[in-house]
Amino acid sequence: MDLRNCPRCGKLFAYDGTHKLCPVCRNDEEEDFQKVKDYLWDNPHATIEEVHEETGVERETIIKFIKDNRLIAEGIELDFLLECERCGAPISHGRYCEKCQNELIDGFTPSSKKETPTKKFSRKSDKMFIADRIKNKNYRR
Ligand SMILES: [Zn+2]
Ligand SMILES: [Zn+2]
Repeated sequence: MDLRNCPRCGKLFAYDGTHKLCPVCRNDEEEDFQKVKDYLWDNPHATIEEVHEETGVERETIIKFIKDNRLIAEGIELDFLLECERCGAPISHGRYCEKCQNELIDGFTPSSKKETPTKKFSRKSDKMFIADRIKNKNYRR
């Protein structure tokens, strides 16, 4: 049996190979997560400070949820910088920035010369949308 000290409460517990916290703290963290989740459900775009004050959950715990990808920063306004663990670029969630994530997946493929066809496309569809509206207006007259 692998006995370890829980990093949160300091008690000895049987490490099962996956969970870093003791069962008691794991339960606490799960309750914390539910609190944060419930709060963000009613109050999207809350800051970490607000969530911390309203739920009583520690800022570190909230940040940990974001790092674990359990919370996405879309619903939470980040008032601190989460940094890419590889290049240090500011990121909104997870451990790596988009660039590093792509590089880690692609391996050696350089991702510097990346075209952005999605932007062109959305512009085109904007125009189409406006033209459609005018057309509809004329049609109704
Ligand atoms: Zn513990
Ligand atoms: Zn990076």
